[in-house]
Amino acid sequence: MLFYIYKSLNQFNNINIVFSNISNYFDLQILTDYLKTLQAPVTIYVHYSEAAVNSNVLDKLLIENFTVKIICEIDKDLNGILSLLKDKPYQYSFLIKNEEEYAICEQIAENLTAENYAVIPVFDNNLQFFEDNVFLDKDDVLASGLGKREIFAHQAVNTNFFGDLIVLPDGKVYANINGKPIGTIENSVYDLIIQALDDNNSWRFIRNEKPCTDCLLHWLCPSPSNYERVIGKMNLCNMKQE
Ligand code: SF4
Repeated sequence: MLFYIYKSLNQFNNINIVFSNISNYFDLQILTDYLKTLQAPVTIYVHYSEAAVNSNVLDKLLIENFTVKIICEIDKDLNGILSLLKDKPYQYSFLIKNEEEYAICEQIAENLTAENYAVIPVFDNNLQFFEDNVFLDKDDVLASGLGKREIFAHQAVNTNFFGDLIVLPDGKVYANINGKPIGTIENSVYDLIIQALDDNNSWRFIRNEKPCTDCLLHWLCPSPSNYERVIGKMNLCNMKQE
């Protein structure tokens, strides 16, 4: 089990745990007792179909002061299930792939406060949707109002990924889930950090390639995200290169 081996969890500022099947996780009480001893805030993620049948388990997690996030795909069952959960102080992440799903999400979100949900576009060969709705334009970048520190940070590290370590159930550790593993849970956190800093594809994945290097907004632009990785295009923007 993760927490038996990875006692160094007390060295992290935030802990996020994604459960594929929380009702089948027999050591949940032992795990939560251990997590409560840590200083870091803990967020538990479950799929909405799990949330409907395990709301008693999730309520206990809320009482323990963990944040519970429900991952929602927009499908025919979602509305009914969310109505069962409507009085619970969960947070929601809505995964959307097109404008229709966004419209449904907006309707559902009418009953939620802005702090309680996030809309997350998912790339699924829907490049046109991304071009129309997700790609940045010049005004978006200029409106970010970055200070000198952030601009310097963009030149040295990827501010989206920096500091993240992702552990999968097989024990492999990643600095970016779309990259190669940088070690396993048997490595020390120090060794994993050294590996992550050595790897140009995660914490140090910056805008140091064309066409971004020829762009005036170069270091003002946010660090590359996983979308660039998955779409296979460095400039997810509507900027025309001269
Ligand atoms: S070309 Fe690159 S740096 Fe310029 S706006 Fe597009 S993504 Fe940002």
